[in-house]
Amino acid sequence: MTATIAKTTCPYCGVGCGVNFTVPDSTSKSGLTEVPPVSGDLDHPANFGRLCVKGSSLSQTLQSDDRLLAPSVNGDVVSWDSALETVSGKIAQVVKDHGPDSFAFYLSGQILTEDYYVANKLAKGFIGTANVDTNSRLCMASAVVGYKRAFGSDTVPCNYEDLELCDLLIMVGSNAAWTHPILYQRIVEAKKQRPNMKVVVVDPRETATCDIADLHLAIKPGSDAAIFSFLLQHSVQAGVLDNGFISRHTNGFKEALNQALESTPTLTSAANFCGISDEDLMQLANWWVETPETVTFYSQGINQSSSGVDKCNAIINCHLATGRIGKEGAGPFSITGQPNAMGGREVGGLANQLAAHMDFATPGALELVQRFWQAPNMATENGLKAVDLFQAMEEGKIKVAWIMSTNPMVSLPDTAQVRRALEKCELVIVSDCKAHTDTTAMADVLFPATGWSEKDGTVTNSERRISRQRGLLPAPGEAQHDWWAICEVAKRLGYQSAFSYRNVHEIFAEHAALSAFENSGKRDFDIGHFSQITKSEYDALTPVQWPVPKGRPEGTKRMFEDGRFFTPDKRAKFVPIVPILPLQEKTSDWPFTLNTGRVRDQWHTMTRTGDAALLTKHTDQPYVEIHPKDARQLGIEDKTLVRITSPYGEVLLKAKISRAVAPGNVFVPIHWTQQFSNASVVSNLIPQVVDPLSGQPESKHAQVSLEAV
Ligand code: SF4
Repeated sequence: MTATIAKTTCPYCGVGCGVNFTVPDSTSKSGLTEVPPVSGDLDHPANFGRLCVKGSSLSQTLQSDDRLLAPSVNGDVVSWDSALETVSGKIAQVVKDHGPDSFAFYLSGQILTEDYYVANKLAKGFIGTANVDTNSRLCMASAVVGYKRAFGSDTVPCNYEDLELCDLLIMVGSNAAWTHPILYQRIVEAKKQRPNMKVVVVDPRETATCDIADLHLAIKPGSDAAIFSFLLQHSVQAGVLDNGFISRHTNGFKEALNQALESTPTLTSAANFCGISDEDLMQLANWWVETPETVTFYSQGINQSSSGVDKCNAIINCHLATGRIGKEGAGPFSITGQPNAMGGREVGGLANQLAAHMDFATPGALELVQRFWQAPNMATENGLKAVDLFQAMEEGKIKVAWIMSTNPMVSLPDTAQVRRALEKCELVIVSDCKAHTDTTAMADVLFPATGWSEKDGTVTNSERRISRQRGLLPAPGEAQHDWWAICEVAKRLGYQSAFSYRNVHEIFAEHAALSAFENSGKRDFDIGHFSQITKSEYDALTPVQWPVPKGRPEGTKRMFEDGRFFTPDKRAKFVPIVPILPLQEKTSDWPFTLNTGRVRDQWHTMTRTGDAALLTKHTDQPYVEIHPKDARQLGIEDKTLVRITSPYGEVLLKAKISRAVAPGNVFVPIHWTQQFSNASVVSNLIPQVVDPLSGQPESKHAQVSLEAV
């Protein structure tokens, strides 16, 4: 057998590792004759040849027995034409009878930028609704709003190299050792090379990431902002402000400082708020003062919070005050969870965005995008964010929901509400690779979608790097690309010419042209260099970090090196922050604080990683982590079945006795689905509490009670 090696990108986390995929010549429509091996791409700047266990097990996930192979309507297999007619007919009817906001897309950071682009264009420009939200709302929505408040744009300043170049790395709300393993390995290697590099982990749990920590601050859940409020005011006392940077490049420092002095007036007040010792907080403060090359690396522990946006800005404030941004080894760095959480943001794939990093409120943007798209029915204001979207379904306001490549029946908080919402819809369309997920079970129409190794397009990783995911294997059965299904529905709604793309290359070129349209450096996201890209250039595209404006094909390694931001006056903005704790409080009825997160070898709701036998070896069952002191008091031993109850539902899980959690706290992983057992879905317990600015759910926090069963 002969084979060719192709370069593509891992479909799991936001590190976005390059993968070499050996494509056997003997593949056919009827299936693979040999499992193709994968290896890390030595040339990809995210991973330089490394892959974690999830990435290196990708080939085990290619031949699922549970592929969705044909379209169906109400359980009957039908032709694509018939299914598309059903969907477009129903959308046309509800839009005519109830207005455009009776339709909604709920998308995913797993789909590709080109899929996102056409979905966003159809909804916002042609149907006339901004009800286009995504599971990225559960991932990075708070970081997006934090960046916009500070920089005037959703711009990630740093790159992965900065993690290796910094002398102090503060990792907040991130168990990167398990969630972003290749970045973690790069950090481990850098620390080995430069033993003076300090790593501080701020996390209520003692996670695997703490293995490299010089200091672990096991804070009270949700108290992170007080750390950075204290660091801001301490920077003044210690004389490490960058006064030149503050006066030339920022606004609002005094107001932010006054608020920090009021909120955390002393070391002890900040330490008490966080439930840590004065000595530990002072140790971090001393390192902060001594170390200009500091990166603050943050992820879901910051974002999945009812004050997630404020936490992001508390971090950014500290970096602006000390001029630690736009330089090698320095900056605030949000790490995305999903492979394409950033690609969705780029096209405007969130309900509060318009397109190409323009919002509905961006002056002139609505008219600009309308003109570019030649759009007949522009949405004019923000749509509904994920939790509100599903509440509107339950209220009967959204009548047709098209869910693509995501499993909200497991991942959204309060799954009982999500069920009621989908039951209330008149038509639920689910596009997926898998036939049986908790969400496909709720569908009236199923569209069989192509999956990783079949899909073709681009993704953007956590350092703004655009990479190709390549379609290398034939689609099984009647599976089709998501962009194709969206365009076919659009054409049946009467929008033939605007959705007549023949391939993803044409969509990418249009997306690039929109990003550059009347831009001239006004907006951060500009990949205008690619607006004239040919098909063969697109096919050969190598990873590049945006912005990639015309005349700068090499892209942009680091942002804000010139101290100019994307606000109207080009100055960054400090935001005064009042640290608050999670909204749900401990009571005698609900005495335990639940935290959620990932295990090392699973991804999201296991629809792909669950197929790889190797990946179930690390953790084969869901569990609840309980501190030994609490376990003793409740008569719980290791592996005892425990009932966990919240006001929203209950789950039954085996106990894992562990000192990784503090007394009074428990931890449950997020992956297991109702198909495993309804009693193992942790989202059953989570309230629909969201950050008021970003709409991101506080998925890492619920108050619960425990009892041995
Ligand atoms: Fe894939 Fe993330 Fe692992 Fe890289 S670190 S191989 S992107 S799961």
